[in-house]
Amino acid sequence: MIEYENLGKLNKPFFEEYEKTFKQTLESGWYILGSKVQSFENEFAVYCNTRYCVGLANGLDALILALRAFNFEKGTEVIVPSNTYIATILSIVHNNLQPILVEPDITTYNIDAKKIEEKITSKTRAIMVVHLYGKMCEMDIITAIAKKYNLKIIEDCAQAHGATYKKKKAGNWGDFGAFSFYPTKNLGAVADAGAMTTNDEQLAETIKILRNYGSKTKYYNEAVGFNSRLDEIQAAFLSVKLKQLDKINSHKRKLAALYLQYLKPDFIKPVIHSDYDDIYHIFNIRHPKRDALKDYLLKNEIKTDIHYPVAPNKQKAMLGILDNQPTPIAEEIHQTTLSLPISYFHTEEDVLKVIEVMNKF
Ligand SMILES: *Cc1c(COP(=O)(O)O)cnc(C)c1O
Repeated sequence: MIEYENLGKLNKPFFEEYEKTFKQTLESGWYILGSKVQSFENEFAVYCNTRYCVGLANGLDALILALRAFNFEKGTEVIVPSNTYIATILSIVHNNLQPILVEPDITTYNIDAKKIEEKITSKTRAIMVVHLYGKMCEMDIITAIAKKYNLKIIEDCAQAHGATYKKKKAGNWGDFGAFSFYPTKNLGAVADAGAMTTNDEQLAETIKILRNYGSKTKYYNEAVGFNSRLDEIQAAFLSVKLKQLDKINSHKRKLAALYLQYLKPDFIKPVIHSDYDDIYHIFNIRHPKRDALKDYLLKNEIKTDIHYPVAPNKQKAMLGILDNQPTPIAEEIHQTTLSLPISYFHTEEDVLKVIEVMNKF
């Protein structure tokens, strides 16, 4: 059986260093907001080429706090791609703001920059871009639109650790880059974890206050804050893994290159372009008989996944919030997309086997 993902196997190369750093952190007796979090924040800021990084509890919190930092008034409209993972949209709803869906480009699966301007109204204050599957959005065009209309940009970088567009990294284009270190992500912890990147000192300070009960000095609260702290043990693990992130990304790129080269053209493959350095958090193909293909692969001992089976505006939770915004392109993607095995533990032989079986479909 070729698994889609296996977190034990994925993390195996890091076990020895994790055990060492776990023991050391345990014995230090300092478990929340200490030197391990600070070190990881510094290292990740350097990696993303941003001035600041603030560790947080998870990716959803990073998105929620990014919007909260701007104190937008209730009912403010926030532009978001219609085919994103639900977390991006939840962060808007949790801030009492209105998500405005913009359809993706059918070839890149990312927000169609040409369709943003027509959705901007006098109530629009921000654009949340999502670098889906590990490919970045067209950030030069999007930052120009944001500048023209005086909008904030929040990048959902949960699938894009180390991805670049025109040589500049994800998390370094917008006002904020919101990261998740959920275990399956290219930079994954062994529990929930997240972070925010920014180049603005004041915004970094605001996020630090919001993550810790709205407090800068213990027991003095200056904002209605949250508890969204990254813990020392996960931060220590993340520092270990961050050193190998480029290696993880290039392994996934190598596997992606095999799929791109050898899968027969019946499958609609991800596009590549020299402006983009994709990290293939997910490698998806599209096929009109997606469900039959998924069953066929499973019968041949190959597990796959679907990102995502249901479009956000078709989710029960979004009744009354998104259901008056039709999104035919997103739905087309949700009905035809299939994610193939591309984990750090998969070998070239695994992928060649998947290709061999797929090409007989
Ligand atoms: C994983 C993910 C999130 C949420 O991250 P969590 O750490 O699970 O809260 C947000 N957006 C996207 C695009 C994701 O893939």
